[in-house]
Formats: sequence, structure tokens, C-alpha cells
Amino acid sequence: MKKKQNPESLGIETKLVHGGSLQSQFGETSEALFLNSSFSYETAEEGEKLFIGEAEGFKYGRYSHPNLAMLEERFALMEGTEACVVTASGMAALFATLMCQLKTGDHVVASGTLFSSCQYIITQILPRFGISFTLVEADDMEGWKRAIETRNTVCVFVETPANPTLELVDIKAIANICKPLGVKLIIDNVFATPLVQSPLALGADIVMYSTTKHIDGQGRTLGGAILSSRKFIDETLMPFVRHTGPHMSHFNAWLLLKSLETLHLRIERHCSNAQAIAEILDNHPAVSRLIYPGLKSHPQYEIAKKQMKNGGPIIAFELKGGKKSAFQFMNALKIIDISNNLGNTKSIITHPASTTHASIGEDARLRIGINDSLLRLSAGIENIDDLKNDILNALKAIS
Ligand SMILES: *Cc1c(COP(=O)(O)O)cnc(C)c1O
Repeated sequence: MKKKQNPESLGIETKLVHGGSLQSQFGETSEALFLNSSFSYETAEEGEKLFIGEAEGFKYGRYSHPNLAMLEERFALMEGTEACVVTASGMAALFATLMCQLKTGDHVVASGTLFSSCQYIITQILPRFGISFTLVEADDMEGWKRAIETRNTVCVFVETPANPTLELVDIKAIANICKPLGVKLIIDNVFATPLVQSPLALGADIVMYSTTKHIDGQGRTLGGAILSSRKFIDETLMPFVRHTGPHMSHFNAWLLLKSLETLHLRIERHCSNAQAIAEILDNHPAVSRLIYPGLKSHPQYEIAKKQMKNGGPIIAFELKGGKKSAFQFMNALKIIDISNNLGNTKSIITHPASTTHASIGEDARLRIGINDSLLRLSAGIENIDDLKNDILNALKAIS
């Protein structure tokens, strides 16, 4: 395999197209797909050298493989960090990130509003192993400080913007509390995407993604990614990953490598469409509340301006008239799909209370602001006038 020179000093668009590429002796212009689980060696001595670390090469598909290597290198270049591990899903990424560094007696701090499965891991699974947790409201800086300074805190997990209420957490402020204590700050950057927010540059230690969302961007695969320093990946994460097997399938890694090539173009359109839709919903008579980080009406607009390049690709809003209006509106949409997923070229509307956050129960839902009127819109890349018309017509259908 021939390795192309990595474009370290070049623009992000160039890195996304060329970074990490490996080319075989055939000179293929699109990166090849290798559907193999293992590798053979010319000699016994060569195998021995690989395993004692005296030679470099691929050993076994659970932890080293050309398609994983190409994707991980391109991903790390995009994020501006040293190393990456890609996993079978976003949840596998979070679970590996936590379990590789936690033990009985440790304490984890997390934001109060989380993707429901992230909440389940932290509040239901970790306690079974004697790992305690504290959940903190996004803007309660005193609360963050107190919880993080608890003696046995090992890591902090923050989702910003949060799913689905788009609350923001000031990444730099939390990083400043964590750093002197040696506490690791993990950011779930799914809602911002790597092109809108750079948590590592703001002081976070680890950033994770569900590549299922905007990174695949076309609704085809499940996947996850963990990005951090070479030291964390090699010494803490990799020993856990190579022995427990949450790695991404080689086929999905190949497919996502191609997704990264167009990511900046897609994200630009997702975000400009989201901004335009948010502007027509803001102050619309059928809308009782609009939440979008790209508009001054967002209660934490100042944080958005500091850490996000724009408002991002997701909008949340509440309709007057509760669940009945929300369902009437959804059912009247002709272009926008009804789904619980997000981050697709196709625009998607979600009613979190009855789907993604149904399992956490009504009390927990209301506490974090997920009422029956709340809708989440993942802006796609369709023609913006078609989307606006679809939304305005559906709003008229509410009785
Ligand atoms: C979807 C999602 C996840 C989980 O990712 P999967 O790929 O579905 O496992 C985690 N965090 C956030 C914010 C998400 O939107």
C-alpha cells in the first residue's frame, strides 16, 4: 500500500478529500474496500516482529485494518487531533470512552439533558458497577464546579447543543474547571457536527460522534468515533477496544470515508437551511417557543457565538395546542419525513416526547423541558423554498 502525503497544512476541505488515503499497486482513484478479517505474513519472523512492535502493519480486523486506518486518520485530521478510533455506533463510542477509564468507586459528572441512551448508561448501567454520577443543569456553573470538584470525579460528559432542547454548555468554562484537577472532559459533538464546533480546541480532552447522523449524512449506516490525544487513544482506549470488540465494520468505514469528502458542503447547506427555517418560525403565530442557537432569542446566544461557527443544523420549537397541534402539523408535512433519526440529506421532524424520550418517563421529560408540544427539526439539504412552503402549509393545517 502506498500512503499519500497527509495534507497537514492544507485547508479542511482538502483534508476531507485526501487525508489518510492508502493506495494499492493498482493505483485506484477511489479508496478500495478490503473485506478481510485477517492478514498473512511472508515469514514467521515478520509475524513475530509485528506482534512485538518492531514492525508496522495490520494484524487483525478487530483493531487494525486498512479501511479503519484510512477513516481514522482522515477523521483525526479533520478534528485537528492526533488519533481516532471508530466504533460500531455512537453508543459504542460513548460506552468505550467511559468504561476504558472508570472503575468501582469513581464519580462521573454529566449534563442534565442527554440523548436517552447516554442518560441510561450513566444513570442505570454505571451505578451497577459502583460508579456514581451527578447530573448538572447546563447553565448552573456553581453546580458544575461543586460536582467536578468531588474528590473521586474521573470524567465529565457534556452534550452541547443538547438533544433535543438545544441547551448549550460553555465548553471552555467546564474545561477550565477540569484541567487543574486532571478530570477528563468528554464532549458529545453530534448536534454541532465537527464543522460547526471544535471542542478539543476549546479545551476538551475527548470528542465523540455518532457518525450515524450528519457524518454518514444519508441515513445508510450506524457508526461512532472517538477522538483524542495519541496518548489517551493508545494507552487508555485501545486496550479496552481491542479486547472488547466495539470496532466499526470495515464496509461502514469505507463508506464513511467517502461521506467525509462531501461533509463540508452538506453541513454548509444543512446549517443555512436550518437558519432560514428558524427565522420563519420565530414569531410565527402558531409557534409558542423557538429554540435555535443561531438566533438572538436563544437564551444562551452568547455561548453559541463564542463556541459555534453558526446555529447548527437542528431546530427545536413548541407549537400552541400541545400534542394535538404537533401531530396535525407533522401529518400535514409533504416533503419533511417523520422519523426519530436526524442528520440526513432529507429533512426530518421528530416528536421527542412520544419517541426518542418516551422511555425516560413523563416526570423526567418535563424536568428537562421535553413537553408534548416540542418538535425537533433536522434540516436537510433540499431547496429552501420547498422546505419553507412545506412548513408554512403544514402550520396552516393546525385546527
Ligand atoms: C444518535 C445520538 C447518539 C447515539 O448514536 P448511535 O449511532 O445511534 O448509537 C449519541 N448522542 C447523540 C447526541 C445522538 O444524537
